[in-house]
Amino acid sequence: MSALLLDDDVFDSYVEAGRVAARVLGTGAGTIKAGVSILEVVESVEQMVTDAGAGLAFPLNLSLNEDAAHDTASIGDERFFIEGDVAKLDLGVHLDGYIADTAVTVDLGDHGLLVEASQRALEAAIALVRPGVTIGDLGRAIQQEIESRGFRPVANLTGHGLARYAIHTPPSIPNLSFEGGAALEEGMVFAIEPFASSGSGKVSEKPRVEIFQQISIKPVRLPSARKILEAVRERRGMPFARRWIPSERQDFALSTLIQQGLVRAYPVLADVPGSVVSQHEHTLIVTSDGCIVTTA
Ligand code: MN
Ligand code: MN
Repeated sequence: MSALLLDDDVFDSYVEAGRVAARVLGTGAGTIKAGVSILEVVESVEQMVTDAGAGLAFPLNLSLNEDAAHDTASIGDERFFIEGDVAKLDLGVHLDGYIADTAVTVDLGDHGLLVEASQRALEAAIALVRPGVTIGDLGRAIQQEIESRGFRPVANLTGHGLARYAIHTPPSIPNLSFEGGAALEEGMVFAIEPFASSGSGKVSEKPRVEIFQQISIKPVRLPSARKILEAVRERRGMPFARRWIPSERQDFALSTLIQQGLVRAYPVLADVPGSVVSQHEHTLIVTSDGCIVTTA
């Protein structure tokens, strides 16, 4: 049963973006092994998306261990996966602006129960989705699955609505139980993304920043800054990686754009040092009697 409140073209774009995202994420995750270059995995996943005729809704996020989100390969990144790593791959694919957002965790160590916690939390939340269920109900299911395995849900990372060219729209879908909250409605498109942590269950910003987003449009004089804006114009406000933009005086150009309120930075978000975080994510469309998981 399709979600009747979406136009056919829009519905088809969401479903096709999801199909591409699921296939590419699965293939990319399968290439992660100790000794493999992080930059090569990131570039090959991003290439698979463009080879499929789709676009990236944001740079492939590849975040290790206590880093929960917003890391990606840097220019000339020399890091390799090592034994024991827990890698989160978070992929955003769009077709004509309609986005599929999906993530998996690859465990190169012995963190099976942690990985299971975010996986089961996602499955439990998806099983509840239908019109009338509240966001608080989803948070309760997520928290229960994670805490019953001895871990903490990350309180300050949430699922979110999706809209055309917009990767985060209301409502937020918390990974914690709460009373009430908005009720789900047929035709809503959103992502559920539980994070399970062996640490504090709260993430904070690290100094490392590799992902940025243009947040307003106004003229700039600095030539290197103008070149960056030209390079990201076709992104229509979707995030971009430092790897994707001209390197000429890049740090100065980016900090100028940030100071002028044209660009925002997405610092790496991490739980406490030495902790480990897992993540799973799917995008779904609410139907009259349940949901369609576009990224399954
Ligand atoms: Mn995501
Ligand atoms: Mn997301």
